[in-house]
Amino acid sequence: MKTSYDVIVVGGGVIGSTIAWRIAQTSRKVLLLERGRLGQEASSAAAGMLGAELEMNEPGPFFQLCLESRELYPTFSDELFDLTGIEIELTPNGILRLARTTEEAAQLQETAAWQQLHGGSAMFLTSTQIAAMETSVCETFGGLFLAKDGNVNAALVTRAVGKAASLTADVIEGSPVYDIVFSPTEVTVRTATEQYHAEKVILANGAFANQFLPSMHMPPSLIPVKGQLLRIQPSGHVKLTRTISHGHFYFVPKRDGTIIVGATEEPELLSHINTVSGLSQLLLAVQDVLPGLRDAAFVDAWTGIRPLLPTREPFIGPVDANSQALVAIGHFRNGILLAPVTAEIIVSLIEGKALLAHHKAFIPQIPVSQVR
Ligand SMILES: Cc1cc2nc3c(=O)[nH]c(=O)nc-3n(C[C@H](O)[C@H](O)[C@H](O)COP(=O)(O)OP(=O)(O)OC[C@H]3O[C@@H](n4cnc5c(N)ncnc54)[C@H](O)[C@@H]3O)c2cc1C
Repeated sequence: MKTSYDVIVVGGGVIGSTIAWRIAQTSRKVLLLERGRLGQEASSAAAGMLGAELEMNEPGPFFQLCLESRELYPTFSDELFDLTGIEIELTPNGILRLARTTEEAAQLQETAAWQQLHGGSAMFLTSTQIAAMETSVCETFGGLFLAKDGNVNAALVTRAVGKAASLTADVIEGSPVYDIVFSPTEVTVRTATEQYHAEKVILANGAFANQFLPSMHMPPSLIPVKGQLLRIQPSGHVKLTRTISHGHFYFVPKRDGTIIVGATEEPELLSHINTVSGLSQLLLAVQDVLPGLRDAAFVDAWTGIRPLLPTREPFIGPVDANSQALVAIGHFRNGILLAPVTAEIIVSLIEGKALLAHHKAFIPQIPVSQVR
């Protein structure tokens, strides 16, 4: 018997699961195919920062997209709790981005100026103010306080959106997609044992998207970037009250009292091995940036593979004008933050609604330079 859907989503990470759930809410028949277990890759591994203002270097559509998704999080969290009973630990306690040289301080002051102009909450604080806020941090030359950024428990978000998808759409785990074939009337998605048909397919398989991009007339330009993280448990009464960031390193306090320390950036690596050099970098960063936590206990370590596109921004939308194929890939360091807005954009496209101007910047065939 022929199995037909309105939409098939390939990949059950935070992006694919959120999209499947949100499209199913529009009464469409949706199938989500995941090659292993839902959330088994980058999404469950993430540190969970909602760093809409954290790593932004310039104003533009991407900054707007990040702010917008952060704003969606309280409602997203409530809806997930109501549907699944899973509390994602949304903690809007701000992020401190440290300056450790006068040059870094000058750069962060410039960042604060443009972010405030474009709707951000960044405020430059002196070293004395920072020392008063966080007793475990090193000497600084001041830093940015990003009051509206925060964090969630990424593993719980991923579990919640996976459960939301399972409650509203057909979800098949352990089902790797091997082939996607387009005909004028439908899309056929093949697994080892089955073939499924739909009006549209949405590619959301993270760092593994290169497998299908050529069949969608797109270059296989996605770069997997391995990241290693570890977790520590502070001793005694020493603690961190908000996320601290310096360079590529960050320290994210979680509700259970532990702190996630991240992360390495290792391009072109699909391996899941924690290495001596990777973990050493992270442990040295703790001693260097948070000397007050040098006696914290090591708890555990893990890895994840970030999906990076050459633009360093995601592709969200159809691969050509009348396409049966849409992509939601390349969320790199911000996929947890961007899941709510990514799904909103995809739902608008499926429903044939007009996109907001800054959303058009992420449609693959429109060069970003044309919409900035
Ligand atoms: C170390 C690290 C720290 C991070 N920290 C943060 C953070 O603090 N904040 C933040 O916002 N983001 C963070 N990120 C980024 C975030 O994790 C990613 O951007 C996000 O998880 C990407 O989600 P995804 O659903 O696209 O990919 P994934 O979670 O990788 O999901 C893709 C899914 O597709 C499946 N799949 C692959 N091929 C197939 C196939 N052929 N058929 C069927 N299924 C397939 C995979 O099994 C996988 O489950 C971090 C990432 C890493 C690695």
